[in-house]
Amino acid sequence: MAQPPSLRDSLPGLGRLLRRFWPYVRRERRLVTASLVALYAEIGLRLLEPWPLKVVLDRILAPSTAHGHAGSGLHLLRDVDPATLLMLSALAVIGFAGLRALAAYYNTVGFALVGNRVLTAVRSELYSHLQRLSLSFHTRAKSGDLIVRVIGDVGFLQDVTVTAFLPLLANALTLVGIAAVMLWLNAPLTLLALATGPLFWVCTTRLSRRIRDTARRQRQQEGAMAATAAESIGAVKVIHALSLEGSFARVFTGQSRKNLATGAYATRLAAGLERTVDLLIAVATALTLWFGARLVLRGAMTPGDLVVFLAYLRNAFHPVRDFAKYTGRLAKASAAGERVLDVLDRTPDVRDLPGAVPAPAFRGAVRFDRVSFAYEPGRPVLEEIDCEILPGHHVALVGPSGSGKSTLVSLILRLYDPTAGRVLIDGRDIRDYALASLRPQISVVLQDSLLFATTIRDNIAYGASGGPSPPPAEAVEAAAGLANAHAFVAALPQGYDTVVGERGVTLSHGQRQRIAIARAAIRRAPIVVLDEPTTGLDKENEWAVIEALERLVAGCTTFLITHDLRLAARADLILYLDAGTVRERGTHAALLRANGRYAALYRMQADAPVRYDAVTA
Ligand code: ATP
Repeated sequence: MAQPPSLRDSLPGLGRLLRRFWPYVRRERRLVTASLVALYAEIGLRLLEPWPLKVVLDRILAPSTAHGHAGSGLHLLRDVDPATLLMLSALAVIGFAGLRALAAYYNTVGFALVGNRVLTAVRSELYSHLQRLSLSFHTRAKSGDLIVRVIGDVGFLQDVTVTAFLPLLANALTLVGIAAVMLWLNAPLTLLALATGPLFWVCTTRLSRRIRDTARRQRQQEGAMAATAAESIGAVKVIHALSLEGSFARVFTGQSRKNLATGAYATRLAAGLERTVDLLIAVATALTLWFGARLVLRGAMTPGDLVVFLAYLRNAFHPVRDFAKYTGRLAKASAAGERVLDVLDRTPDVRDLPGAVPAPAFRGAVRFDRVSFAYEPGRPVLEEIDCEILPGHHVALVGPSGSGKSTLVSLILRLYDPTAGRVLIDGRDIRDYALASLRPQISVVLQDSLLFATTIRDNIAYGASGGPSPPPAEAVEAAAGLANAHAFVAALPQGYDTVVGERGVTLSHGQRQRIAIARAAIRRAPIVVLDEPTTGLDKENEWAVIEALERLVAGCTTFLITHDLRLAARADLILYLDAGTVRERGTHAALLRANGRYAALYRMQADAPVRYDAVTA
């Protein structure tokens, strides 16, 4: 099978990326046009640069050899005296170089700006896209690797586009101009020089392919290292508690060493390719010099022509040498581009359907209409759940661990869509509503609420995000008051402006829960989801949290997942789930009368001296 051209073959990621981001490039078209003009000016001036040398050689130093040579193109300067000609040539050297420098400056800066702007837009799009991707993607992806994609891969692309790809493109364009002038100067000699092309091809293709594969491996290893680092730093508490520091350090060091070995191999390959290219360039130059000198001796060419020819040849080899020099980085950028596109080309599983309408203010009637769900095909987690909850009613979801309680409530938030059946709010399938109008109408408090590394005020205010403007300070404090948080927040030295650490580690679990309740309260949502909000709290905090929760859910349709049946007992409806189906349903009194599993569990908890989360687990 024919081998694809190595440059094109090396850049599929960049090519795809360029196609994908063409609209962003088009937005910069004025800058692109100006940079292209500067680039063409630079190329023109580069072509002119060797000519003063030829003038000096053929008209001043060795005029006898130049007589009558058709290709010299110097007849216009026939009547100029040698001293003036020398002066003009010297000035031309400076003039051409100066103008070329100016043109090069403008096109370098121009293209760099275009590259940076486009890739900044790429990074923003990648970030927003990642945020929109469904939980099914995020639960499988490694956060460290994703961070490397957003920061590292895009940064690498940015760097390589500006420092390698664009210069290479400019040089490749120059090559076309140079080849044309060389053919005009001396066609046979040009063909001789070009005849070495296949030799380059054979020698570089295999090496570039190996470099590319190595670069791709290197980028993947870097992603894996970042994933390990992110995982261990994120779980530092558990790692300390289980004394896993050594194990994680060993894994990371192992990955790091592997990456070092791959990097060293890539460097050896790239250095080998560069030296091979240097040698081939020397062979091509020697051949040209040998034949060229013989042509000059035969009078078929002037010495000036030969000097210009050799200068062009050197320029013509620029792109080839650059390609050898940059091939490793370009390959790595290509791999980075593929990793970026891999994320961008994913469509979120849960997204607005065509024709989705903004949801009206909900009354809070929720219905599960024969809902089934599976995270993985063939392994159902929920089966045929059928139930209706009236506005303002409280539902408690109880049952053994893994029975599907959290999964069921995640369907109300459309974190996932059911595999069969429908979830309806106020009589309409929630897939008919635009996501941006559905989720703000549901408040959530989880078992271990995550706080962001910002002030307590902002953490509470995040609950109201999606609203027209940030909530006023009074609203934040009122929400904190409702959540039994105001007193302890006000007692902090910086009050609401206290910055909580990453994951809120400077606050106790109970305090974090109360901030989370305040965050849910400021949302003023008609539907509230509470996923084991009191688990793991001490008695004092537990009652503060329960009291806050009662205020939060007053008048709201509420889903409470709990292992504590004392809390469940207060609900209007209790659903006892087991293995993804509703086994028992009814009020606390009715379920006790039915004397089924719920009743047995309740009696066990009531008789026990301690709480029974563990028993139900
Ligand atoms: P718990 O009381 O322990 O929180 P639960 O009743 O809320 O349990 P779910 O978290 O809904 O149960 O999980 C139901 C089943 O789905 C479990 O078997 C679990 O292993 C599986 N599961 C949960 N999340 C995922 C996921 N992201 N991918 C695949 N399977 C999952």
